[in-house]
Amino acid sequence: MRPEVPMLIETARTLRRDIFTMIYQAGDGHPGASLSVVELVTALYFKVMRIDPARPDWPDRDRFILSKGHGCPAWYAALARRGFFPLDWLPTLRKLGSPLQGHPDMKKTPGVDMTTGSLGHGIALGAGMAAAGRLLGKNYFVYVVTGDGELNEGIVWEAIQSAAHMRLGRLIVFVDHNGWQSCGRVEQVSGLRDIAGRFAAFGWHTQEIDGHDFDQILSAIEVAQAERDRPSVIVARTIKGKGIPFVENDNSWHKRVPSRAEYESAMKHLSA
Ligand SMILES: [Mg+2]
Repeated sequence: MRPEVPMLIETARTLRRDIFTMIYQAGDGHPGASLSVVELVTALYFKVMRIDPARPDWPDRDRFILSKGHGCPAWYAALARRGFFPLDWLPTLRKLGSPLQGHPDMKKTPGVDMTTGSLGHGIALGAGMAAAGRLLGKNYFVYVVTGDGELNEGIVWEAIQSAAHMRLGRLIVFVDHNGWQSCGRVEQVSGLRDIAGRFAAFGWHTQEIDGHDFDQILSAIEVAQAERDRPSVIVARTIKGKGIPFVENDNSWHKRVPSRAEYESAMKHLSA
């Protein structure tokens, strides 16, 4: 185990408490999709990315796009814990006028590099940022987290083809492969299978990992960063609702608010 992993595990547990608390207090939100990306977001924000919370618009920063924008409680918790804005913003999630909208808004939230929520756009947006960085002579990386369900949007595959054609070596995409989308199993809804094989056919560098294992996440990122002549995808097998036993793999938690008893049970589990 890498020396930083115990800190990352503890941070992930803190983010999960933040996420469930925010959604409970907001009375609305997407717990399952937020909980499955926690380790990916934690690794990026607390270990990997070159960022400066005091300068969220720093031109040389690494970029992050949460293409599955409905998972934004995970992003907001990471940004707050990393110092981009005060922790006392978190209870304002989804409130009228709050900087923390139900889907990410780059004009409202410090550290949010791209507005998302309309699904399927993240890879195309990331490709644009990576191409711009190369034109400007910058050496930042662009990280995108996309859901597996949103891969059924046509623009995704257009972007995948273009990014490979443009040899965007600084574009690194994670697929949060939890197997579910809002209306059911991804494979049953759209027929999508062999995600890595499909990216490879378009010319991408591909890796498949356990998306909750920090050693695997960090190693995969290092390998992807070294791949400078083609974009990289890291297919991260995850569990929707990871970390809270009664939420895990139960798709009724795609969009659902915990009862008081459920909230207290989750907090007890995440504090143990
Ligand atoms: Mg999914």
